[in-house]
Amino acid sequence: MKVSFYTSQREYSAKKDEFNTAIQAVIEKGNFILGEQVAQLEQGIQQYTGAKYAIGVASGTDALTIASDILGFKDGKEVITSPFTFLASTSCITKHKGRPVFVDIDEETFAMDVNKIEEKVNQQTVGILPIHLFDQMADMDKIMEIAEKHQLKVLEDAAEAFGMRWKGKGGLYRHAGTIGDFGVFSFFPTKTLGGYGDGGMMVTNDDELARKAKFFRVHGASKKYHYDYIGYNSRLDTLQAAILSVKLKYIDDAIAKREKIAKQYIENLSDCEAITLPKVKGDQKQVYYVFNILAESRDQLAEHLAKNEIGYSIYYPRPLHLQPCFSYLGYRKGDFPIAERVSENIIALPIYPEITADEVEFVCSTIKSFYK
Ligand SMILES: *Cc1c(COP(=O)(O)O)cnc(C)c1O
Repeated sequence: MKVSFYTSQREYSAKKDEFNTAIQAVIEKGNFILGEQVAQLEQGIQQYTGAKYAIGVASGTDALTIASDILGFKDGKEVITSPFTFLASTSCITKHKGRPVFVDIDEETFAMDVNKIEEKVNQQTVGILPIHLFDQMADMDKIMEIAEKHQLKVLEDAAEAFGMRWKGKGGLYRHAGTIGDFGVFSFFPTKTLGGYGDGGMMVTNDDELARKAKFFRVHGASKKYHYDYIGYNSRLDTLQAAILSVKLKYIDDAIAKREKIAKQYIENLSDCEAITLPKVKGDQKQVYYVFNILAESRDQLAEHLAKNEIGYSIYYPRPLHLQPCFSYLGYRKGDFPIAERVSENIIALPIYPEITADEVEFVCSTIKSFYK
């Protein structure tokens, strides 16, 4: 049995007419740049997440870069973040010569260890950039508390976190991305809300930040050919917005299906001693964007899965402090031992709403046969 790590095709064939109609409507009208479908999706995201503003841009990476620019994560200022994430969470800081300051991760959740943040705060520190990774949010109570105490800006990398919610002090669940100053989502195809190409969104509750973000995506222009800032050419594509609005209609169902699959993995693999299953911390509603396990002899297990035609992925094989592009920061091996250890043992199993119970069963039995 061949099990792909991810495929968009099952969802497309199940809702073909709906997707085709949405795509056709854009092409027939010809309003390709910031067409009405972009505004519609922005409204949909505002409604779903409770964010006051949503601003569609070309990718999650651009959303992070623009937000970092607006928040002043640049020119030697320091931003505290995690080295265990996708490149863009850190390159958005360095793009304008801000300085990322890493703290190690929590062993069980892989999120930045919030108990290590405060010791890194100094006169140069301007922000904290938490990443809500894989299946859960970082501890936003603690992060916001430190940010308020030291007057730091918070940029939530919620690229992977669409639909995740954190129960804050007021007792209300708030969506990933809507708690800090800015939050960003990625619509990369594999993401929980994924398009048929690149796309991203910035969300904020702040009037001034939203105003700037809208200028920044059109070259910093407050009106056509009037440039208040040096901005970007970064718009969410209208076709992608139309596709994403179709997907947004079914997002709760998609999230519920992911949860069911995760439960099947957990039940099936819990007696396998060579494997550590994911744990959640904090009062929050998870979304299983990625289902990770920590596995003994990870690389050999990966080979075994590949031999059996099972897709897998490794997020992330090399933490960012050990990447050549960041060598100038002066970190070395051993600086963040937990991130380094996790990067050697972690492996992500196939999870997407349309995967079947039989396929998940096959993945589990193939893993178990490896350890026998
Ligand atoms: C996917 C992702 C991004 C980047 O999003 P793109 O839309 O691919 O540019 C940023 N941060 C994290 C944690 C991601 O997983």
